[in-house]
Order: sequence, then structure tokens, then C-alpha cells
Amino acid sequence: MGYAHYEITRNGKRIEAGYGVAATFEQDGCEADIDRGLAYLCGKEPGGDEHGCGGYFCSEHHYMSGEEQVGDLCGPCIATYRREQQVNAD
Ligand SMILES: [Zn+2]
Ligand SMILES: [Zn+2]
Repeated sequence: MGYAHYEITRNGKRIEAGYGVAATFEQDGCEADIDRGLAYLCGKEPGGDEHGCGGYFCSEHHYMSGEEQVGDLCGPCIATYRREQQVNAD
């Protein structure tokens, strides 16, 4: 069982994923050469999860949440996540 190549469903569409699959950059204006491996995934689950959108982002557009169960998130997702954390902290 490898993670080099597999299919996931994201937003109702089948897409190919895995570190063997070249990703077109999903962030506007970003031309980083990345793949669809878990290292570049927003969130923890391919296809999106509670906090992540399931997009693939280079390290420059990818932010550490600091939470093991949340994973690393893209800009919009980390902003939402941090907002939720602040609400919960009140
Ligand atoms: Zn995201
Ligand atoms: Zn980027």
C-alpha cells in the first residue's frame, strides 16, 4: 500500500493525489513545483476535513497549526482555524 498515487473525492470530483502526482499550484500567483503528497496537503485528510480544504500548497503558502490532529493549513484555512481557536478561548 503506497501513497504515491491514489484517487480521492474532493468537492464531489474525483482527483488524482499522491506524492507521485504533480500538482498544479492551487494558490493564485504561486508557481511552486509541488506534488499532491500529504506533505503539501491542507488538513490531514486528502479531499478535505474539518479544518483543511484538501488543497495542495507549497511551504510558503502552508502554515503550521501546531496541532497534530489538525495538520498544516493553507492561508484561508489557518485564518479560519485561528479565529475558531480565539472564539473557543473566550
Ligand atoms: Zn485550506
Ligand atoms: Zn505557494
